[in-house]
Amino acid sequence: MACYFSEQLIEDVITFHGHSCPGLAIGIRASELAMKEFGDKEGVEMVAVSETDMCGVDAIQFLTGCTYGKGNFLHRDYGKMAFSFFDRNSGHGIRALLKPEARAGAGEELDALMAIDEPSMTDAHSQRIVQLKLQLQQQIMNLALDELFEVTPLNSGMPRPAKIMKSIVCEHCGESVMESRIRCFSGKFVCIPCFTTMEQKR
Ligand SMILES: [Zn+2]
Ligand SMILES: [Zn+2]
Repeated sequence: MACYFSEQLIEDVITFHGHSCPGLAIGIRASELAMKEFGDKEGVEMVAVSETDMCGVDAIQFLTGCTYGKGNFLHRDYGKMAFSFFDRNSGHGIRALLKPEARAGAGEELDALMAIDEPSMTDAHSQRIVQLKLQLQQQIMNLALDELFEVTPLNSGMPRPAKIMKSIVCEHCGESVMESRIRCFSGKFVCIPCFTTMEQKR
């Protein structure tokens, strides 16, 4: 493996994620890109933004230390295989978009097989899928970073630090809700689940 991270760290991230897969490999390589750009520099406060919620986000959180819980890992649900990394202090950032060529060969065959409907799926198909996933994963681990990602510098779009928000008590269930998540129904302030229930009853 021509990878920046030690074999032990790769083992650890696989354990954390629960299995080894092509998606995790993409996350490992995106983390490598982020660490090379920002990791060793002093005074850098890294923020990660993922445009997908697939397996790879586990690697990014584990390897870059940007985590969902700390608020320096954000998911923007665009369904794209793209990851951005910013330095909160300088405002400098990069966006890495997976190149379609990175999945050439194994990835294309895999997509075609995965599109087969369940009833038509044979054992031979399933075995081939396992093989191709492994092959694709190795391909992703071995490609050079510039063959893997289209990297563009970013001068804007850095997420602002999360503000501490006021809590409001839901007038239906009585539970406290963050101000930004409150809904209004028939002039009452209610939480999202209560809102959904009330709206369905209408
Ligand atoms: Zn996975
Ligand atoms: Zn409620």
